Amino acid sequence: MKISFYGAAGEVTGSCYYVETSRARVLVDFGLHQGTREQRQRNRVLPPVPFDRLDAVVLTHAHIDHSGRLPLLKRQGYTRQIYCTPATRDLVELLLRDSAELQQADAKRMTKRNERRGKPAVRPLYSVEDAIAILDQLSTLRYDTPAEVAPGVSIRFVDAGHILGSASIEMTVVDGGVKRVIVFSGDIGQNGMPLLRDPTPLAKADLVLMESTYGDRDHRPLEQTIEEAAGIMREAVWNKEKVLIPSFAVGRSQLILYYLNKLARSGRVPEFPVFLDSPMAIDALKLYRKYLHVLDAETREQTRNGEYPLDVPNLTCTVTPDESRKINDMHCCAVVIAGSGMCTGGRIIHHLRHNIWRRNVTVLIVGYQAHGTLGRQLVEGAKFVRIFGERVIVRATVRTLGGLSAHAGQSELLAWAGNYEKNAAGQRPRFVLTHGEPGARAALQAKLKATLAIDAELPEWGGSITLN
Ligand SMILES: [Zn+2]
Repeated sequence: MKISFYGAAGEVTGSCYYVETSRARVLVDFGLHQGTREQRQRNRVLPPVPFDRLDAVVLTHAHIDHSGRLPLLKRQGYTRQIYCTPATRDLVELLLRDSAELQQADAKRMTKRNERRGKPAVRPLYSVEDAIAILDQLSTLRYDTPAEVAPGVSIRFVDAGHILGSASIEMTVVDGGVKRVIVFSGDIGQNGMPLLRDPTPLAKADLVLMESTYGDRDHRPLEQTIEEAAGIMREAVWNKEKVLIPSFAVGRSQLILYYLNKLARSGRVPEFPVFLDSPMAIDALKLYRKYLHVLDAETREQTRNGEYPLDVPNLTCTVTPDESRKINDMHCCAVVIAGSGMCTGGRIIHHLRHNIWRRNVTVLIVGYQAHGTLGRQLVEGAKFVRIFGERVIVRATVRTLGGLSAHAGQSELLAWAGNYEKNAAGQRPRFVLTHGEPGARAALQAKLKATLAIDAELPEWGGSITLN
């Protein structure tokens, strides 16, 4: 059997694996390349996979760098099923629609630019219709429920603790009378995060394909982050400030709500109004309730006691643009959570334009800000920023809250890898590292060697390995 790497090999986006046996072909994840224009351009070049002859597609989780190219499958002649967990299915619906809208807006903008230069129109990578059409092919499998998805290939999803519905895949492959177990780690979450269960450690495998996003470092302790958040919020409430939190709609927004609620309920911070100003985050919030049974034991216990931790007493969910605009009239203490997470678009831009030049405003950064984004400029202390073509002075206080990551840090990755049992010959499984920048991936490789005597391989795009 052969496994080829067509994404997230020496980088963190565009996840895609292709598994071939003598009688089956399975694709695992089909994500978007994200980042610079050159990286995004790569989404238009399809990997050399016979899409129309695939037996199955399997999805680890809903994040767009794992699911974002699924809408291309239909046009390539793939009509069979795409397997994922039930929560992933619901999140994919939200995220793919949003992704398609962004693709269309991008294409429109580039077409306009091209027209001025006498160049041809740009077609979106896919349309909202393409995104909706692929949803029919999503087929759900619950955690810990093995199923045969292709001749001789069965899979089992286990909770990866990364986002709602996220999974590691344990794939059992029988080929030519030989049985092998391949584990696709997917993105592995941090232990001890609220709401989600901890990642499931697995023990038996012949081959492990493992993510390495934070292979080079540990996150700072969560308790420290919460303490800092409490301090920032106390100060903001005391000064009657408006707090703007740019946040990703799925995962991060709900985590922020959880902590704000906890701080207010425990009396560490006086009560304050919170606005969730993102239709996608509001929809995702509903899914947490729907999938309570896959949230962690503490959350389920609290809910049984009538204290569902995402029931925020002073929360207003603003769905329409009109409701969103009304938040501008409030100048007293209020927290506004809005997308996009890196201030590259979405409603947060409007809030920043209305508020960032004021003094009694705090912008609280709670996630990674890529180079070149407005969020990054704010983090780096820009005195002026450009918003909708207008030069705006930054008088707001910009604070950064580190440590809130949906990914395991280095120590947790090592513990996850160290859980695999040795075989009869005293050897651990074969390890392949993916989904990490070159530095992080190499650092994890070195640590695996030093602490567990594992010689992990580092494939590049288009590379493949054979498992006998
Ligand atoms: Zn992810």
